[in-house]
Amino acid sequence: MAHRVLIPTPLRPYTDGQDAVEVQGATVGELLSGLTARYGDLRKHLYSDEGKLRSFVNVYVNDDDIRYLDREATALKAGDVISIVPSVAGGAPTALETAPELTNEEVQRYSRHLILPEVGPDGQRRLKAGRVLCVGAGGLGSPAALYLAAAGVGTLGIIDFDAVDLSNLQRQILHGTPDVGRSKLQSAKDRLTALNPSVKVESYETALTSKNALELFKQYDIILDGTDNFATRYLVNDACVLLGKPNAYGSIFRFEGQASVFATKGGPCYRCLYPEPPPPGLVPSCAEGGVLGVLPGVIGTIQATESIKLLLGAGGTLIGRLLLYDAWGMKFRELKLRRDAECPVCGDNPTVRELIDYDQFCGVSPAQAAPAPADPPDFETTVVDLKRAIDSGKAPYILDVREPQEFQICRIPGSVLIPLGQVGSRVAEITAAAEGRPVVVNCKMGSRSAKAVQLLRAQGLERAQNLKGGILAWIDQIDPKQPKY
Ligand code: ZN
Repeated sequence: MAHRVLIPTPLRPYTDGQDAVEVQGATVGELLSGLTARYGDLRKHLYSDEGKLRSFVNVYVNDDDIRYLDREATALKAGDVISIVPSVAGGAPTALETAPELTNEEVQRYSRHLILPEVGPDGQRRLKAGRVLCVGAGGLGSPAALYLAAAGVGTLGIIDFDAVDLSNLQRQILHGTPDVGRSKLQSAKDRLTALNPSVKVESYETALTSKNALELFKQYDIILDGTDNFATRYLVNDACVLLGKPNAYGSIFRFEGQASVFATKGGPCYRCLYPEPPPPGLVPSCAEGGVLGVLPGVIGTIQATESIKLLLGAGGTLIGRLLLYDAWGMKFRELKLRRDAECPVCGDNPTVRELIDYDQFCGVSPAQAAPAPADPPDFETTVVDLKRAIDSGKAPYILDVREPQEFQICRIPGSVLIPLGQVGSRVAEITAAAEGRPVVVNCKMGSRSAKAVQLLRAQGLERAQNLKGGILAWIDQIDPKQPKY
């Protein structure tokens, strides 16, 4: 039985330039033996010296990845098409000719790299010549920048404009307790320089925008996406595609992380995976939804690993693969990703040829984020007015729509907890409990409670009001003894 075997570009020099060949075989193993018997030079690319199929060669039968099966024993049926897909770095290996030599001190510092045949002195010189830009010095940027500096990547760019907050330290290991209140960039620079003084840290204390992204990215070999919002993520992706710079992508939420490498030549981009952002507010931020502190440590370290392999131009990278990590169940999974020929940025006929307004694209531009015109003027109340009402003996019914663990941390005295997800089905109960009093709804910062107020008003509680700024405003202005989170 003859089967069609698709040969990828890097292997075509060994099949007389053919992109597909017909080979006999009842199993994948037989077919590959037949193939390598016919094209002898192909053998060393597919098999190790021990005669085992190399781990970085993926074999797909009709688009099904058989990597997790007993690959060579997989039986073939008539009409099956076999694809051989070696992982290729496809990255941005820095040129060896212009790479600086290592000093004696560097030879000692990097000795564990130098004795790896896959890195060696030449690879270490490529790292020394390498330039990686970390977008963000937060949860993902922290471990990534630390490991890249430790590994001897010669130049690290870091862009961030935040100050270190006490609540960052649970995961942002670039910064320490004495750094609280300092600029993250200053803190990052001090820490990275202390770790490896030969690394040049280039810092940009600014927000990444459509105006500065291309100019900044141009100066680097790889962009490491450590952003925490969709607008910046799409901006990073599009700028990488437009400039042809690989994007070492990572994202985290609660217990789950994702990593991949986007925007390489011929590889998929973030928009091939997610053409459009979710509507604003649908996916909560880490500030709202929480994140396990060690999770960005894993994902950021994967991003650093990918960056290093891209600079070396070797190893099996995450190009064309989306790695999913579930820290709570401790599971890794991966999905195949292909470049989408219809992708608006990296597709065959791209419609996005320059950077756009990403706040608008993600639905968070000031024009669109302004209070919905449908919200009447009495939609909101302030913590000062609420305190005044309580003090004058006319306390409203205060409904807190956060989650129980948040309520445990801090709350407005007398408030009643009903998480947002239950408000819709408990309106009758809320109406009865209010006993004709006005209803004031609060959450952490005011956005979940605004949704609850819309819900309550739609179901007849017309006088329900949103507490502007939420419990955080209450603590700031009325009750500073309570802890903030
Ligand atoms: Zn794309």
